[in-house]
Amino acid sequence: MQENEALFSRHLRLASWGREMQDLVSRTSVLLVGAGGTGGLMAELIVRSGFGSLTLVDMDYVSISNVQRQVLFTAGDVGEPKAEVAERKLSAIGSGTKLTCIPEEFSPENATTLVSGADLVVECTDSLEAAMVANDACVKLGKPLVHMSAIEEYGQIKAYTPGLTSCLACFMPESLPELPTCSQIGVLASVPSLVSAMAFSVLLNVLRRRDDGALYFVDARELSVQKVRVERNVNCRACARGDYIHLRRRP
Ligand SMILES: [Zn+2]
Repeated sequence: MQENEALFSRHLRLASWGREMQDLVSRTSVLLVGAGGTGGLMAELIVRSGFGSLTLVDMDYVSISNVQRQVLFTAGDVGEPKAEVAERKLSAIGSGTKLTCIPEEFSPENATTLVSGADLVVECTDSLEAAMVANDACVKLGKPLVHMSAIEEYGQIKAYTPGLTSCLACFMPESLPELPTCSQIGVLASVPSLVSAMAFSVLLNVLRRRDDGALYFVDARELSVQKVRVERNVNCRACARGDYIHLRRRP
């Protein structure tokens, strides 16, 4: 216990954190979908803060192009499953967070099982389809969700708190748009970590039930954050009508 007091002392001294928040995070299990640029730093922040458990799902293998921005991986990890490398690196932090790393695709087939085992879900793959699978599973099971993405010199963050704020389907068309990827148009080394560090504060707001439902646009070129209010859509197919289309079909 004394060791933990020292380990988490800088959080315990924060006026906004204290013993109550430390106890809360130590009881909280997080499902993190995607261990890339944004997911890598988020995993570190969750583990370093002493969350109770972290389950990380990622089917990818480390490639040399990841190393420029994905903080969990180095050139020596190329060719290894990201989930396995992540587990090794995160275990070495030694904060006591129980780790489970799953080298599988997050899909309609396993989403419900994975989400039901978590208190809170963070989705940060580069797939909009995967984000919507996470959204539908979270809405269906009443679990909070933090979604984030990063590309070029921009990023966005949106949380969903059941019964409190809008979900991703409240403003997303049913037919998902084709979006460019980082492999096509690039991403600045700092941007995934910048977005992820901000998303960690959004995650804490979700835990404190202070999620404002906003969509945050992060612009690393202009050094600005734009906060757009997203009201609940009373006709939302997911959170209003309970139509979970992304749990029915494969991405
Ligand atoms: Zn909705």
